[in-house]
Amino acid sequence: MPTMKAGRMNFGTGEFHVQDVAVPSPGHGEVRVKVNAAGVCLSDVHLIRGLVRPLRNGDAERTLGHEVAGTVDAVGGGVEGWTEGDRVALQALVAKPWGVDTMGVDYDGGWAEYVVVPHGVLVAIPDSLPFEQACIIPDAVSTPWAAIQHTAKVKPGEAAVVLGVGGLGIHAIQILRMSGAAPIIAVDPLPGPRENALRRGADAAFDPTQPTFVEELHAFLGNRGVDTAFNFAGFPGIDEQILPLLSPGGRLTIAGLSGNPFTVENSVALIVHQQRILGHYGYLPADVEQLVRLVHWGRLDLRDSVSAVLPLEHAHEAVRQLETKDGDPIRLVLVP
Ligand SMILES: [Zn+2]
Repeated sequence: MPTMKAGRMNFGTGEFHVQDVAVPSPGHGEVRVKVNAAGVCLSDVHLIRGLVRPLRNGDAERTLGHEVAGTVDAVGGGVEGWTEGDRVALQALVAKPWGVDTMGVDYDGGWAEYVVVPHGVLVAIPDSLPFEQACIIPDAVSTPWAAIQHTAKVKPGEAAVVLGVGGLGIHAIQILRMSGAAPIIAVDPLPGPRENALRRGADAAFDPTQPTFVEELHAFLGNRGVDTAFNFAGFPGIDEQILPLLSPGGRLTIAGLSGNPFTVENSVALIVHQQRILGHYGYLPADVEQLVRLVHWGRLDLRDSVSAVLPLEHAHEAVRQLETKDGDPIRLVLVP
């Protein structure tokens, strides 16, 4: 039986290893994709460190990797419209009766030479789009896109704050710029990401660890509050800091997985001003297709989003670099 390298996480023992496993075969309705590039997400760091587990089958062993691009390698029965060699990105979420299954969490993902997926997750990508950029669209770009378009429903002229401008938040800055939000404010404790955010369209950037943070942000906004805030980072205490700055009708959308509890200190103000705290997860298949189109037509530039490309065998090193923010990586990409 042919084998391949795969980055496997055992959620029961908490161990992660790149090891040899059997090359999977596509069943009915499935497609095997030869992986050309796979992104490393902060969620992967959280999964490897045991901070986040699959909601179902919490002790399973899985190949990680939910940001994947490659070429169609083998097509199972009942699949039409795809042939060997087609260039694709994989959207990682599959709707299920119980909610949603995530590739690389609930079924084997793309930190491997090959991945088998239901054919419905394939999104064709043009020759103009390199695999390294294509693979990060599912999640690193499409999650902020969906948070902004579907969950927060941002309108032109709204004041927006992005908390955490790393892998996801930096793309939120670009998408908010396209969506007409004004002003757009980046909040991050690290100077590198703050500078990146200013380069990509933020009007101002603040350090939330400074004692004057809230006053400075308040002064920058004038009497106006924050219409729409996005938490992509999960650094402690940030939700408490931003809630009092929301405008009437303002909303805080939380997409960064941290697992930390937080307190609504003034629940009366939240009620009277009809503010909303929204959880956001994932994206729709159409979001990936729209983003591929926007990148192809030059409306969205992802060329600076891939900080480094590492061989799959160096997955541990990629996780370490992302976890310690060594070199302020936006996205690290693994290549089998
Ligand atoms: Zn992710």
